[in-house]
Amino acid sequence: MLSKPLMRYLDSDEAYLLKEYLSNEGIESIVKRQGLPRILGGITNFKVLIDPGEVSNAQAALSNFSQEMKLRHSEQQHLLSTQCPACKSGNVTTVEKISMIQRIFYCGVIIMRCKECSSRWYR
Ligand SMILES: [Zn+2]
Repeated sequence: MLSKPLMRYLDSDEAYLLKEYLSNEGIESIVKRQGLPRILGGITNFKVLIDPGEVSNAQAALSNFSQEMKLRHSEQQHLLSTQCPACKSGNVTTVEKISMIQRIFYCGVIIMRCKECSSRWYR
């Protein structure tokens, strides 16, 4: 029975990537989608389930996977701070937070703006 939740992700790509990692180690797993549909205000997330007997075998694969995800996320962060996601221009700058609402909403993030196409994003 593939009944033991190993990890939970918000992103199906990551969940399926973990499944692939596990299968390279010979561990069978399934990805299960759960949560309310987004249209109802729910947050969908994805669980990776394995056989409870495989948990200790899965640890190595899981830690390799987590390392790689950490690397991937930090690369993404770096890219977001140096390049516009819309037009790939490197001519980007940080935005001073203006209103109080924005200050609350964007608490803990840095807003970036592209000088070429005026896109905004945050990191
Ligand atoms: Zn741009």
